[in-house]
Amino acid sequence: MNRRVSTQGESLEKGRPLIFRNGLVLTMDGSHRVLNDSDVLVVDGVITGIGTKLPAPDGALEIDARGGIVMPGMIDTHRHMWQTAMRAYGADWTLSQYFVWYYLQHGNKFRPEDIYAGNLMSAIEAIDAGVTTSVDWSHGLQTTDHADAAVDALEAVDGRFVLAYGNLQRAPWEWSASPEFLDFYRRRIDGKGDMLGFQLAIDVAGEPEFPERTAFDVARDLGVAVTTHAGVRGATGDESIRLMHENGCMSESTVFVHAATLSDDSYHRIAASGGSASVSTESEQSAGQGYPSTWKLRQFDIPICLSQDTSVWWSADLFSAMRTTIGADRSRQHYEAHQLDETVTHLDLRCEEVVHWATRGGAAALGLDTKVGSLEIGKRADVVLLKNENSPVMFPLLNPYGHVVLQAQRSEVDTVVIDGNLVKFEHRLLDVDMDKARSVAEATVSHLESELGTDAWVEGMNPEVPERQKRENPYTWAK
Ligand SMILES: [Zn+2]
Repeated sequence: MNRRVSTQGESLEKGRPLIFRNGLVLTMDGSHRVLNDSDVLVVDGVITGIGTKLPAPDGALEIDARGGIVMPGMIDTHRHMWQTAMRAYGADWTLSQYFVWYYLQHGNKFRPEDIYAGNLMSAIEAIDAGVTTSVDWSHGLQTTDHADAAVDALEAVDGRFVLAYGNLQRAPWEWSASPEFLDFYRRRIDGKGDMLGFQLAIDVAGEPEFPERTAFDVARDLGVAVTTHAGVRGATGDESIRLMHENGCMSESTVFVHAATLSDDSYHRIAASGGSASVSTESEQSAGQGYPSTWKLRQFDIPICLSQDTSVWWSADLFSAMRTTIGADRSRQHYEAHQLDETVTHLDLRCEEVVHWATRGGAAALGLDTKVGSLEIGKRADVVLLKNENSPVMFPLLNPYGHVVLQAQRSEVDTVVIDGNLVKFEHRLLDVDMDKARSVAEATVSHLESELGTDAWVEGMNPEVPERQKRENPYTWAK
């Protein structure tokens, strides 16, 4: 366990007032103010001052932000955190291999302690990368013991989390109406406040009877939002959207994950509901849910937020999400123009908007925008300092939004504050038991490998490579 003392012997006790000094501050407030050489003061978990040469209360920890960018904590609105113990295992998968592995072979092998292991690793990874709020899209909760383990892990890490409760082994209308589920909700979630939010994770299969309605009714009765994988080629499509819409099961709190491969009619329905789309560009690009949808969503004015989906393939930092998302969107703009034999001279999507999606957009999607997502006086203090004096990446600082989206990486995350508490300082995580995370991850990996057998384990990681088609070359090589 890391001690709460800085390298200079300074006490980093929880609850101590903090002041970031002389940073380049991306407020992400209503007018996206960018402030040079400015301070951000945090007292009692709240941002109490933003400006130059602010007086700090006695005992405040001074954080030197010179040469750095101070920005709101990033927000990941969809990650299957329980799968993190399988980190990179599915790096060469498509969605088909994922479905076989998780639904048929593998998903039901996870014990509560395996859910704990994945969630613990994922939660630590998130705060290390400056992701201060993560939605745990937890669809492996076969029993409420699994759900208890998920919450135990989230509560062991000083981050802000939202448990999106799901169970891929049973129909949503069954588990959501069970007394065990409601008991779990009352025991572990109800009244927890903003550090542990709750959603129902429900996918709509598109059956005309719409049996999922029962689960949507449970969500409404509990007053919690629904998050749903929508517009996933081969799984959920326009029919799912139509059923949700026509049965009154969409609202501005609904989060539509991926939202690719949908008709204009579906996008109109989503836009009319006021709900948000959580785009996981790295996922859509490799797994094949559909072309990353920001270029479409922007046409329909659907609010956008970002997500990383699962560490079976991808990492839990939002720098990768921002970078792949802007690349996919711009790629599409060029591609569409080239089909018309036109040339794009000005890009539609700017880095500033992508930083908005990674911060304020996520907060809005989760109904947390009055609390977090921007640096404004009165908001809870979820703050990230990007700074690295040992890296050439942090100078010169000319275009801060461009710097965040296309230059910075995890190694630039110097300091992370969540709800006013330091969780990372001078590139070092505080109060994190990495040895424990490592040992529970190892135990989960050896359990899963032994359950499946070594052959199936190795085969699962190395899907067949289809035969490659080579073009006939009309030319021959000559010296
Ligand atoms: Zn997902």
